[in-house]
Amino acid sequence: MENARKLGYNYFYGIFNTEVIMKLLEDRIKKDGLVKAGNILKVDSFLNHRMDIALFNEMGKEWKRLFDGERINKILTIEASGIGIACIAAQYFDCPVVFAKKTQSLNLDGDVYTSKVTSFTKKKTYDIIVSKKFLGPDDRVLIIDDFLANGCAVQGLLELIKEAGATAVGVGIAIEKGFQDGGKMIRDNGIHLESLAIVESMDDVTGEITFRH
Ligand code: 5GP
Repeated sequence: MENARKLGYNYFYGIFNTEVIMKLLEDRIKKDGLVKAGNILKVDSFLNHRMDIALFNEMGKEWKRLFDGERINKILTIEASGIGIACIAAQYFDCPVVFAKKTQSLNLDGDVYTSKVTSFTKKKTYDIIVSKKFLGPDDRVLIIDDFLANGCAVQGLLELIKEAGATAVGVGIAIEKGFQDGGKMIRDNGIHLESLAIVESMDDVTGEITFRH
């Protein structure tokens, strides 16, 4: 709450609801986000280069509220930008974070789960790996990431969870670009997806950004 107060937002009877969090994040995206060519939203002044921990705290609290009662015992993310958000969120779930590592030279020694991800921003395909020591059938996993675009990163993480025999409880995303296909694909697969801000459209010429509610 103190963070919210510092950030200048009101809350209603102590309940910090999705609407307020969305507004907080939307306002920040409008203020500090830069729309780049190729459908890229640059938010490196608060999300994935310099990180606003007060904002991350509110996001973590909100995912905890949205996934309450799900008995989540592991958060899975992908390096690098997901790690900071996932770590702050994990404090509210009281569970460890595992991040999938990207590698271009896969040494298949049998100790890792693997899948493939094509990076939206770098247009490269990576193998992603998680050690078999850190994911298994007893895990109820929440995937956390900074962005959802075409859904390739989330799909790759879901495959790792499946390989491990673990349960994918849901997906928490900071910024979904609603005009790309990832969100629809994940929701159509019956997966519980909670995006804290959904960009409806953005224009790299005017810089205008609109949101879905
Ligand atoms: P997807 O796999 O859903 O196509 O893309 C998600 C991944 O690509 C995220 O992990 C994120 O790092 C990166 N990404 C996708 N779109 C954007 C964007 O507009 N801005 C930034 N900064 N990263 C993005």
